[in-house]
Parts: sequence; C-alpha cells; structure tokens
Amino acid sequence: MTSLLLEHALVDGVVSDDVLVEIEDGRLSVVRPGADSGTRVPGLTVPGLANCHSHAFHRALRGHTQAERGSFWTWRDQMYGVADRLDPDSYKVLATAVFKEMVATGITSVGEFHYLHHQPGGRPYDDPNAMGHALLAAADEAGIRIRLLDACYLSAGFGDGGMLPPEGVQLRYSDGDAEAWAERVAELPVDRTGVALHSVRAVPREQLPTVVSAGAGRPLHVHLSEQVLENEACLAAHGITPTRLLAEAGALGPMTSAVHATHLTDGDTGLLGRSRSFACFCPTTERDLADGIGPSVALARAGSRLTLGSDSHAVIDLFEEMRAVEMHERLVTMQRGHWSAAELLTAATADGHASLGFDDVGRIAVGQRADLVTLDLESPRTAGAGTSCESVVFAAASPDVRRVVVDGRLVYDGDAGAVGRALAEAIEAVS
Ligand SMILES: [Zn+2]
Repeated sequence: MTSLLLEHALVDGVVSDDVLVEIEDGRLSVVRPGADSGTRVPGLTVPGLANCHSHAFHRALRGHTQAERGSFWTWRDQMYGVADRLDPDSYKVLATAVFKEMVATGITSVGEFHYLHHQPGGRPYDDPNAMGHALLAAADEAGIRIRLLDACYLSAGFGDGGMLPPEGVQLRYSDGDAEAWAERVAELPVDRTGVALHSVRAVPREQLPTVVSAGAGRPLHVHLSEQVLENEACLAAHGITPTRLLAEAGALGPMTSAVHATHLTDGDTGLLGRSRSFACFCPTTERDLADGIGPSVALARAGSRLTLGSDSHAVIDLFEEMRAVEMHERLVTMQRGHWSAAELLTAATADGHASLGFDDVGRIAVGQRADLVTLDLESPRTAGAGTSCESVVFAAASPDVRRVVVDGRLVYDGDAGAVGRALAEAIEAVS
C-alpha cells in the first residue's frame, strides 16, 4: 500500500488541502482531506486526463504542415506520406514516444482512433492486427491506458454512382467490407478495444449496421461533420445529414462519441443529445485545419456530454483544449462565461474516461483507479494564480505537469528532456 499526502487536490469538484490518499492494487482505498500523514506531494493534484481522440502517427507532422502557409491539402498530403512509410516496428517506436509525450502532459488514458491497418497496397500483415498490436504495446511501454478504437474505413468518399473505392495509401485502411473488418477486430482483446466508423464518407450506408453491432456494448467513435463538404456530399447522396444517417443505422447512443460535431443542424444536435452520445471536441486541431467551431453549449444543453481530444497532435495539451472550448464560444457569441472551469475539468477527466469505457477512472475518490496528475503551482504560468479549478484550466499548461501516476504507478517524474529525445529519434526515422 502507498500513502500520499497531496498538498492540494481536486476532490468532488473542489480543491481541498492536505488530502491523504491510500493506494491498494492500483485503486484509491482512502481519500481524506485535512490529514497529516503520508509522503508529501507538493503542488495541485488533479485526476488523470483522458485524450479521447488521437491518431498517434500525425504527431510526425507537427511543424511541417504549415509550409507555404499550409492548406488542408498540404496537411493531408503529408499525413498520407507518413502513413505510407510506417510499418509495425516503426509505428510502435513512434507511438511509444507520442504516448510518452501524452503522459508527460497529464494524459493517463488515450482513445487511439486507428485506421492504418494493412501493408502498402492493402495486403494484410501475417498478423492482420499487427499495427493494432503495435499500438497496444506502445501504450504498455509508455505507461498509458489505451482504448484502441479500430476504425472501419472502406471508401474514399461519395461518388456520383455510389461510394468511391479507396485509392493510394487508403488501401492500407480498408478491409474490403464491414464483415471482413469485424472478423479482424474480433481477434483484438475486448477489454482494451472499441470500434470506430471513420466517417460517413468512409463506410457505405448499408454497411454501417455491421460496424454498430460488432461494437455493441463497447465505445463507438466516429468523425462527424468536421467539414461542410462532408455534409453537402452526404445530403446529395442520401438526402439526409451525416448525423441522421448515423441515427438511422443505430449508431448513436450512450457508448458513442461524435468526434468534432462541428457543422450541425438543430435537428442533428437534438439527435446527439437525446441519444446521450458524447461530443468529442478537438479545438486545437479544429483551428489548425480551419474546420470551424462546433456548438458545444447547444450540444450540452441537448444532453450530450463533452469530451476532448488532441486528434492531429498539432498540440498535445489538454489544458489548452479545455480553455479553447470556452474561448472559442466567447469569440462566436461575443459573450463570456459559457463553461465553468469545473465543467471543463469534468470533460477532460471523468466524462472523457467514461466515453472510452473507463467508468472507474477520472475522479479522486475511493474505488477509482489511482490516476493522479500533479501540477507545479510555482511556474511562470501558475505562480499567484491560486489553487482553484480556474487556475488549472485558465492558467496552467502542459509543461506544469511534474508528476503522473497511472494505476498507482509513477510513470512520469518531470524528465521532459527524455520525452523530447525519444520523439526526435522516432520522427526522424519515419521522415
Ligand atoms: Zn481524427
């Protein structure tokens, strides 16, 4: 058993002082504010953060896709270039470094939205899940909890006479049809995997239910209405919005996360909210790709729970993602005060973990997994900002994370230099 005395800690939505936590078998067995025993941990400790939307290999693009001002297409061409060069060995090395970066920023669980399945040209590896297994092994090495969201990706988009076949690097994404995808995914460990529909562009309408039933009882994530073009093409092909298409296929519900959910009609917002689907916002990616600003407040009012992801990893900093949700809403409405810091912290912790199927992570409470993230309160950003939820969300940034515990195990002790060196090496190898 481990006993820690947390100088300040977020417990039940408020910051308390001198919180004794005892950890047994990776879980919190005692949580008691106002205590005076245990190994003292200075700073402000919050529950582990959940990064609910990640494509690990996109991290290799950071700083490169802005060349010549950077259009959506300079980003996508470079993304496809890196995707083409990866194999299970190099992906494991790259993903390990990326997951270590996440851990160093306070992320203790990741939803890895995985679509790079097969060899160049589309032939499966000897182990058809070699790439997925590489990601699971990378998570183990980095000490992060993972929900591998294996994505069904079958077509290149809507065409005049039906869905367009995959081409180029997209051949690596496709299993041919949803049945074959489901057979492959059935071989992955159930407790660490969920399912994903890449988007309504990438899975033909009649095959959507196959993916939904394969994922029954597990998290299902889907990119939804990230760009206006997707909505227009879906309306032209089917006469309904992507959200309604998903609703009709049975894809919405309390285990579903709609990723981005940027360009929605009022009807779409209602469908997502009434079905209790999560809305996963990725503000730093959405602004990098010029996607737009989604209706986070309207979705929450309708009944959706907000979660957060770093998606393309232009930035990995969930403090920035939390802040950005409120800041973007302020710019859209020219009013302040839509999301409280406590609500944004819930999105980044308990609700984020719930959307990944980890209901026992994300709170500092008895019975929860012992995921503890400690922030330095004396950094140039946090000094004098107090010990409230507001100081975490509106003052702190990822470099302020000094200590990270996952399942009771210390996985980061503040050595950011080692994280940087591993990233540099891994990215160099695939560039
Ligand atoms: Zn994405």
